[in-house]
Amino acid sequence: AQTGADADAWHKTVCRYCGTGCGLLVGTKQGKAVAVKGDPDNTVNKGMLCVKAYFLANVLYAKTRITKPLIKKNGKFEEASWEEALNLIVTKFTEIKTTHGSDALAFYGSGQASMDESYVYNKLFKGFIGTNNVDGNPRTCMASAVAGFNQTFGKDEPMGTYDDFEKADVFFFIGSNAAEAHPILWARIIERRNKNPHVKIIVCDPRETRTTQVADKKLIFKPGADIALLNSMAYVIVNENLVDRNFIDSYTNFAQTVDGKDEKRDWNQYVEFLQQFKPELVEATTGVKAEQIYEVARMFAEKSKETISLWCMGVNQRIRGTHTNNVIHNLHLITGKICRPGSTSFSLTGQPSACGSVREVGALAHLLPGHRMIANAQHRKEIETIWGIAEGTIKPTPGRPLMRMFQGTVDGDIKGMWVMATNPGHSLPNVNKYRAGMEKCFLVVSEGFHPTRTSELADVILPAAVWCEKEGLYGNAERRTQHMAKAIDAPGETKPDVWALLEVAKRMGYGDYFKYNSIDDIFAEYRRCTVGTGYDVAPLERLRKERGVRWPVVGDGMGTEGSIRYAAPWDPYVKAEEKIKFYGKPDGKAVIFFRPHLPPAETVNAEYPMYLTTGRLLEQWHTMTMTGTVEQLNKIVEVQTAGEGWFVEMNPKDAESLGLKDGDKVRVTSPRGQLISKVSLHGRGTPQPGLLYMNFHDPNVETLTNIVVSDAVDAASAQPEYKVSICKIQKI
Ligand code: SF4
Repeated sequence: AQTGADADAWHKTVCRYCGTGCGLLVGTKQGKAVAVKGDPDNTVNKGMLCVKAYFLANVLYAKTRITKPLIKKNGKFEEASWEEALNLIVTKFTEIKTTHGSDALAFYGSGQASMDESYVYNKLFKGFIGTNNVDGNPRTCMASAVAGFNQTFGKDEPMGTYDDFEKADVFFFIGSNAAEAHPILWARIIERRNKNPHVKIIVCDPRETRTTQVADKKLIFKPGADIALLNSMAYVIVNENLVDRNFIDSYTNFAQTVDGKDEKRDWNQYVEFLQQFKPELVEATTGVKAEQIYEVARMFAEKSKETISLWCMGVNQRIRGTHTNNVIHNLHLITGKICRPGSTSFSLTGQPSACGSVREVGALAHLLPGHRMIANAQHRKEIETIWGIAEGTIKPTPGRPLMRMFQGTVDGDIKGMWVMATNPGHSLPNVNKYRAGMEKCFLVVSEGFHPTRTSELADVILPAAVWCEKEGLYGNAERRTQHMAKAIDAPGETKPDVWALLEVAKRMGYGDYFKYNSIDDIFAEYRRCTVGTGYDVAPLERLRKERGVRWPVVGDGMGTEGSIRYAAPWDPYVKAEEKIKFYGKPDGKAVIFFRPHLPPAETVNAEYPMYLTTGRLLEQWHTMTMTGTVEQLNKIVEVQTAGEGWFVEMNPKDAESLGLKDGDKVRVTSPRGQLISKVSLHGRGTPQPGLLYMNFHDPNVETLTNIVVSDAVDAASAQPEYKVSICKIQKI
């Protein structure tokens, strides 16, 4: 373990892992990072940090760091100069563009890239190379939250903040294992409850987890039944008159989507719609006893209490993810538990800068900077003006979102792709299908580590500076833009990704439009894209000094924050007299949507009689390219599985009926493929009967969980349904 006692300097930075955005201090000695500690001055984590971040400095010195560009020649990687690697990329991309058109190229970015990096690649591809095929891994984790916020409120991202945790009386979790996935936020919530015995935590999940284990009330519901459960809670709230009619009348409209169009509805029609969700009627669908739904709905809606809802991948990674987001917002809108201190609907985020680097910077296939829409002519014009390009340059139709992008590699339509700071060769659902596509196209991978399941498929690998080896900006889940200082030099010939992007821009002939002398110039240009949008970020000058600043800021952004908030008048920076207005909608009102319960993309049958869901472990991060290099973190997983490696968790009743016992080697098969694992009956969680659980960290190419996971997507958000797949399990 590291104490940092020998560090001769400490530098302000932000955690490289989850979307919480904990502030860290990295200790350095003679140009080397030697320790990490929580930043006591950062209000996000108040000095705390989780075990992943504790070992973050170790990652920089992993044996798998690459320090020179690599080019694949005759099936083998050979070291190359930057000159050779960059020229090859430019030659191949130009060739593909000339022969097949610009839409034969694509960029797949990341919520782990910094905001300046994302801004530059988005600009390069959408404004100059000429394709909107720019998407990123946040599509796999929070695209349904984006669509949900936009549909309900007309603007993206949560209006609440982490400060609400200290004011909430009821925490309503659904589809979130925060104890493992967001441990610092979980610690803040547990502290709130421990100091205030009236505070209650409700957790809804298809599986017993470390989060359900300490909940005051848990509802274990059937996979895919979340909308039925939430609408049933709405039924109870309406039926028992726990609603806030004054709020509903002042600040909401009602709508139902018919044939893809939103039709206006009213209160009476909403009450009628909810009748089918009477708790007694949905017991079979949800697997939850009616009295439990009544109890939880009453806890949620108690008039004198403040309620915050928190959700994550369990909600978003579903083909009904957007609708489920809508229905969570509905519960807050009908009870008026929104725009009050401690009452808000708050989606948690997986990646450290999914909000900043992708949603705000506009690096998804349908977006432009400042949360603008590609399909909106005025939005395109505004960005074309800032980028200094002719009106009409940006294509008017959105590019390919995630799964269509990778389907393009399989079909041969996408012939060249640049992947930055992410690992789709491991993380995509139905992964083997898309690995074959990646192998076919000309693949550039910007990475700090090699091999990864993606870099092994690359034609060119560009060695990337990581974390505190470069300056950058991240945006966390509570709209906080945070600056990360450069603390040490990057090793060997590694470079910040933004350097490589600018070199390619220059070599492709666009240098005049990318004349940035420093990150200051890039961020200033990005900031121009946000001014006046309601998403206004603070200037870099201020971000360098402070522990993050939440948008929107006003004026020069140097002092007072957010007199224009689309909601949340309790914010200390908002004038107290300002009335609630959901600024995203023309009439300032949010929408209560009627959302039906519909089954998941695939349902169990005689051949595949079990559901499979996936999740993560506290000690590992995503595909383990970083945390997997830390011996101490790997040891914990080994202890978890009695040294037997990776596992499939199942209910003891299922194990008994299938004649399986702890540690048995099994084959898990789905319509997409099969993998080998070991049964775990002593894990951290217990799935309900009929459900299997696997985490997705295991990087062994033969046993990747994502081999068997469904790649069906949500129609509105294009986010895949990782959480519900059908399968069978057999002893080997
Ligand atoms: Fe990093 Fe997330 Fe842990 Fe905070 S909770 S230290 S952001 S991994």
